[in-house]
Amino acid sequence: MPHLTWVVYGKLLTEQHSIMTLSSTLKRDGVEVSLIYTNSVKDVYRRLRVLKPDVVAYSLMFGSHRRYIPVSHGIRREFPDIVQVAGGPYTTYFPESIDELSLDAICIGDGDITLPRYLRSRFGGEGGEGGGVDGFHIRDNGCIKKTPVGNLLNDMDSLPFPDRELFYSQDTLLRNQEFKSFLSGRGCPYLCNYCFNHKFNEMHKGKGNIIRKKSVDYFIEEIDEVKKRYGLQYIIFEDDVLTIKKDWFQEFAEKFKKKINVPYICYIRPNLVSTDVVTLLKASGCHIVRMAIETGNEDVRTRVLNRSMSNEQIIKAADIIHAAGLKLSVSNMIGLPTETLTNTYETIDLNIRCRAEHPSAQFFMPYPGMELTKIAVRTGYFDPSRLSELEKNTWKTSPLNFDADTKKKMEKIQKVFALIVRVPAIKKYLPVIYRMPSVLLYYLSMLVKIYIVVDYLPPVKVSIAQRTRVLFRFFSFYG
Ligand code: SF4
Repeated sequence: MPHLTWVVYGKLLTEQHSIMTLSSTLKRDGVEVSLIYTNSVKDVYRRLRVLKPDVVAYSLMFGSHRRYIPVSHGIRREFPDIVQVAGGPYTTYFPESIDELSLDAICIGDGDITLPRYLRSRFGGEGGEGGGVDGFHIRDNGCIKKTPVGNLLNDMDSLPFPDRELFYSQDTLLRNQEFKSFLSGRGCPYLCNYCFNHKFNEMHKGKGNIIRKKSVDYFIEEIDEVKKRYGLQYIIFEDDVLTIKKDWFQEFAEKFKKKINVPYICYIRPNLVSTDVVTLLKASGCHIVRMAIETGNEDVRTRVLNRSMSNEQIIKAADIIHAAGLKLSVSNMIGLPTETLTNTYETIDLNIRCRAEHPSAQFFMPYPGMELTKIAVRTGYFDPSRLSELEKNTWKTSPLNFDADTKKKMEKIQKVFALIVRVPAIKKYLPVIYRMPSVLLYYLSMLVKIYIVVDYLPPVKVSIAQRTRVLFRFFSFYG
């Protein structure tokens, strides 16, 4: 079996679950797995000369994929014999990436089953080029061979625990930081059209269950192992909606409190907030609940985002969360197709009404594959020839075609969004804020972000040095 090296270009804020899980699976299959985790292309080349892998693999997200373009082309030039494979949302929803990054193969959908099969086919004495494996696009003699998307892995307990050591052995900040992130499963059944889940679900129709959860006992054991091995003061559950299966969550909340008992943050959807669920969240140690409002205008939310929920429902969810003594973190978007400045003000007002302790607003990015991107193109808000220019950084500006004055005002609102929600009296000074230089607002937004990040951190003992390192990593990640 081959030697596969993951290349992760740029330092991470939290663990990358796709790579950790695939690493464990591949090792179980007899593949030698290593990691090049660096900020320097020269370092990538230097370490490839030492490691001499057969395969270089990437897990690519939209936006951050751009950093990998010179890396993969450089590897193609300097190491023509290395097979380059990539997976992740970027390759799944933008298969043209096989040429853009000069790759030999891309994985479409989850790689738990298909990547080991591809490697066995190509390197395991089966004599193939991997062309018969589902869920792959493969370059073969100048053509791209495409196979149908593979089945979903239904039994999450069949996976080995994620290979955290792969990252922790090279990144003491991730190893030592007081919080660690976990995933209890995969899949979301909702159809919000700015999210990849609707496309994923459509692609995998008939290929397995959309919502897949680790069993509670398996998951508790996974967390307990991390707690014993690395220490654990705080958990971030990265699941789209941790409470999506109410019975599962009820069992989990009880066992988690008994065996793990550390505070945590999780995501929830406003329509799934009830007093029962929030009582379980609180009793099991939840400290902050994150939920998305996205826009304060019901019509835009329903008609443009395909996210049917009323403002009343959202306010009720926020009130239940606060009544239980939990903090509320809210994500929003600015610069949606058809959005007007009045809509943006409505988003601010709804966040104020919900008393969001950690409000944030990012610009909508029209990534390929999403239904909302098609709407943006159809309504003339976005020119698809500009897809390759899309940034990872969703905090700078909108790529949509708003008139210059609206765009400028949206950019300024985005900088002071959190400040206005936390101190609503500032809203009446928006005309003054519109006249302030952008650079000043940028630094102001940085100060507010520092305050929010510090406030967001858990009520646990963390040295000032460690908090400073986390803050620096945060700002170098988001720019
Ligand atoms: S609820 Fe969240 S994760 Fe699920 S489809 Fe909507 S945006 Fe995506």
